[in-house]
Amino acid sequence: MIAPGATLGLLGGGQLGRMFTVAARTLGYRVTVLDPDPLSPAAEFATGHLNTAYTDPGSLDELARTCAAVTTEFENAPAEALNALAQRIVVRPSGDSVAIAQDRAREKGFFAERGFPLGPAAAIRTEADFDAALARVKLPALLKTARFGYDGKGQARIDSRAALERTFGEWKRVPCILEEFLALERELSVILARGASGEVAVFPVAENQHAHGILDITIAPARIPEALAREATALATRVAADLRYVGVLAVEMFVVGGKLLLNEVAPRPHNSGHYTIDACRTSQFEQQVRVLCGLPLGDPSQHSPAVMVNLLGDIWRGAEPPWEAVLRHPGAHLHLYGKREARPGRKMGHVTVCEATPERALEVALAIRRDLGIE
Ligand code: AMP
Repeated sequence: MIAPGATLGLLGGGQLGRMFTVAARTLGYRVTVLDPDPLSPAAEFATGHLNTAYTDPGSLDELARTCAAVTTEFENAPAEALNALAQRIVVRPSGDSVAIAQDRAREKGFFAERGFPLGPAAAIRTEADFDAALARVKLPALLKTARFGYDGKGQARIDSRAALERTFGEWKRVPCILEEFLALERELSVILARGASGEVAVFPVAENQHAHGILDITIAPARIPEALAREATALATRVAADLRYVGVLAVEMFVVGGKLLLNEVAPRPHNSGHYTIDACRTSQFEQQVRVLCGLPLGDPSQHSPAVMVNLLGDIWRGAEPPWEAVLRHPGAHLHLYGKREARPGRKMGHVTVCEATPERALEVALAIRRDLGIE
């Protein structure tokens, strides 16, 4: 067990890292952030900031010398950097599980081999893969880059073979996957913490609504039958076990025809788990600290129904949004990430509304959205 007072290293210093840092500092740890952005949201709360590239040998050496353990807040943290650090200090999650999650083609292959439920999909590495892919995947479909996509970036709708050829060419023929465009009944996510001895604490299933490929609203618990929630929890637990995962893992799923399909996993806390800060007995970020340090896992149970609304840069419109519209609701918790520049689509903060009933939480959340001018 790594006791409070020790220094923890963090690869990536965005909002997820900021909330990890707050949780770690609250528990009495010191935190060193490695992030090339001088204005890193996490660095504001950290005790140290290595302001270099993630692969900088000097910075990695300093992390290994000064930290007791290292974690990451984004899946594009170079797996090699994590593996190199793991030779010298505790690294959770492992570079290997991050490497699977950061590549959609590897991820799909991993799950397909193990019999997990997936929608029709095919890997595309060259034009020679088009025939087999189009035989397996019905159009319309989605083409997704295997790597470095997020928030709907690196995704295009494909209605014809010509569109596939054009888009693949425009993307400079980077490795992709082609996925059948599914009629989604709901989108769910299950976030869990899994410790080094395989112990698991699973948060309640969350229901997610997206706008323009970016998470807009999370409703927790999800409005689904009890049996489906149990199934989703079991599925996520099995995913984590098969990955031999140690850390906080987010498992995204679709409900299609009443059945669960795996979409993707994120090897870190997740935007759809922000509700856990205000609505659960332990937050996903405290859980990340606990797993990293080998502490017992906290209780993930939820004490209030909650609805989270993402706040994107769009609502700044050159001025600070009217926060009174949030703060006048006593059950609403405002979280801002300290980003100086508000750009359209940029995640600037979120609001979590906790109320006595899920209906009331949704009602207040929708009123806040409207009053802030979220379209
Ligand atoms: P992803 O980055 O894969 O999570 O995709 C972002 C969002 O696009 C998802 O949350 C869904 O709303 C939508 N999406 C992704 N894949 C599919 C699919 N195969 N069929 C329909 N919608 C999808």
